[in-house]
Amino acid sequence: MINEIKSLAKTAKRLESSRTTRSQWNKAVQDHADGFLDDFNTKTTYQVSDSMGEGLYELPITEEGTPIQEVLASLRENVDRPGLNPASGGHFGYIPGGGVFTTALGDYLAAATNRYAGIFFGCPGGVRMENMLLRWMCNMVDYPATALGNLTSGGSIANMAAITTARDYRGIKAKDIERCVFYMTPQVHHCVQKSIRIIGMSESIIRYIPMDEKFRMRTDILSQKIKADKEAGLTPFMVVASAGTTDTGAIDPLRKIGEIAQAENLWFHIDAAYGGFFMLSPKLKPAFEGVELSDSLTIDPHKGLFLSYGIGALLIKNKEALFHTHHYTANYMQDAVSLDEEPSPADLSPELTKHFRGLRMWISLQLHGVAPFRAALEEKILLCRYFYEKVQLLGFEVGPAPQLSIATFRFPMGEKSNSYNLDLIEQVKLDGRIFLSSTKIKDQVWIRFAVLSFRTHLEQVDLALELLENLTNKRQG
Ligand SMILES: *Cc1c(COP(=O)(O)O)cnc(C)c1O
Repeated sequence: MINEIKSLAKTAKRLESSRTTRSQWNKAVQDHADGFLDDFNTKTTYQVSDSMGEGLYELPITEEGTPIQEVLASLRENVDRPGLNPASGGHFGYIPGGGVFTTALGDYLAAATNRYAGIFFGCPGGVRMENMLLRWMCNMVDYPATALGNLTSGGSIANMAAITTARDYRGIKAKDIERCVFYMTPQVHHCVQKSIRIIGMSESIIRYIPMDEKFRMRTDILSQKIKADKEAGLTPFMVVASAGTTDTGAIDPLRKIGEIAQAENLWFHIDAAYGGFFMLSPKLKPAFEGVELSDSLTIDPHKGLFLSYGIGALLIKNKEALFHTHHYTANYMQDAVSLDEEPSPADLSPELTKHFRGLRMWISLQLHGVAPFRAALEEKILLCRYFYEKVQLLGFEVGPAPQLSIATFRFPMGEKSNSYNLDLIEQVKLDGRIFLSSTKIKDQVWIRFAVLSFRTHLEQVDLALELLENLTNKRQG
């Protein structure tokens, strides 16, 4: 047996890379990343490709491993290139992605050290770091010092944790579900309905509250619906407001909704996954007036803080409610006693073993400071307003004036407007330098112009305008 152990160890020890191998691999990976980043200006935002990355299958997983140059070459060809480049400044579709480089440094260190920041006793400093970031965000939304939350993989999971917490806090059991009523606008992000289904509340009632001309919730109708539902013996339970809808960037009237929720005893959740970080700017904060009345709030550092994908956050005013839903004890966890010095993320989340995602946010804020993030956010708002004015001069019709950094527009072509505008997006995609996506509002196709990449500046917006001008002129003439 000893011989077998030793022989296995010989192969197993290859997992411990030597200092020399580590520096070779580090250098190769760094060169690869630098090549990607240096090329940004020449790169397309959307690359059409015939193979769609199929070449990846030509490099199968083997017993003995493959040299790093081959591995990175396959990555470059099959993964880095085809499709959408979300970190490009020409990305105006969906909600543009981040990719601030310091995220990579944080992830590198988190992975290299593999510290476990899920339980206080395991990595007290890591837990303090994550809780410090949560308190920093709680402070931004004017929650009390006792509020906390959890760093999640994204906004969808944060919304799900919020809805689950609200359900448990209100003591809702299976037999009550049919009578529970949720309130939201039709513009709510689809992950909210998805969460409601996943957590077993698909038999609850969802009341879609009509919106005003700027796609904001009509609070007079919200009040009426809640009253009518109460009279009908139902259980109005939760209102989900959006602070920056994904489609148009609309902010629901938070103060009014908060007052109604308080008076009617509803859990008030705000989905600010996209819009939340605009609150970093004192100029933009007034648009979120009343945010502090909410019970919970979702915000995505991988959107408004421009970090790379993989970090969202749920903020919650009453952390005991979050704890009540998510903490568990198990025999094999008996040594991991909570010291209560700092609540442990594992007690506030469905996750146990987790990515130490706080490090990427902490190191980014530490190295850059807040000023460039705030400036970038204010810049995005102005770029969107600039586009909104200029695009009208090109003959486009526009939706409501942007409340944040999303505008909607379409080229008016009468009966043919829908197909014309869908085709226009296709032409833009084929050109590749910029990327736009569309939405449907009342059966009309609208093109969205969403500005949220830290790499988007005046040049990219002018390029988008120029391209739209050329494409529509060509069609006219
Ligand atoms: C993006 C978004 C979500 C979903 O967040 P993910 O991080 O993509 O899971 C939820 N709500 C709104 C308003 C969003 O913009």
